Amino acid sequence: MRTYPPTLLRLIKEFAHLPGIGEKTATRLALHVLNISRAKTASLAQSILDVKEKIRLCSICFGLTDSDPCRICTDPERATGVLCVVEETDDLMALDNSGAFRGRYHVLHGVLSPLDGVGPDQLKIKELLDRVEKEKIKEVILANNTDVEGEATASYLARLLSSETVRVSRIASGIPIGCDIKYTDQVTLKRALEGRRDMEGC
Ligand SMILES: [Zn+2]
Repeated sequence: MRTYPPTLLRLIKEFAHLPGIGEKTATRLALHVLNISRAKTASLAQSILDVKEKIRLCSICFGLTDSDPCRICTDPERATGVLCVVEETDDLMALDNSGAFRGRYHVLHGVLSPLDGVGPDQLKIKELLDRVEKEKIKEVILANNTDVEGEATASYLARLLSSETVRVSRIASGIPIGCDIKYTDQVTLKRALEGRRDMEGC
């Protein structure tokens, strides 16, 4: 490493700070930058700066956006009256990319975790309740993760919303295909049993 000129070494170190990038990959990326045109390098640098300067949270759903409200919240093609609640912005993107849901979302920005000092006030829960009322929401789909904290947060929200005239549903989660029952964790087993469907007779 010491044989690299300090300017190159600095870029290698910057890349190595990125998640999932080790020293070898960082070196390969830095050498790649050396080999591409100045215009491509400028475009790369500018897109990094743009992400920092232009991306913010949508004031309605709290997803990532570069225009407020975001494209999802302003899309007239999307179903109104139903909200899909997720923990993080990347959950929103994963769900939306799956094409399984064509309504609007609400990002909580975390899970309830009393031991880490995360209570209802640290999440976008009040904003969710305000939306349910203001947007006359008929159904809230709780798409929190299915780990212990996610389940606890979903239960908390279901209790909060039980006073509203809104249907609350929870995404079904099952045992992955090919997975052994005995190696499946308790939360998954519980949800798989609760979410069981009738089977057609042969
Ligand atoms: Zn939005």
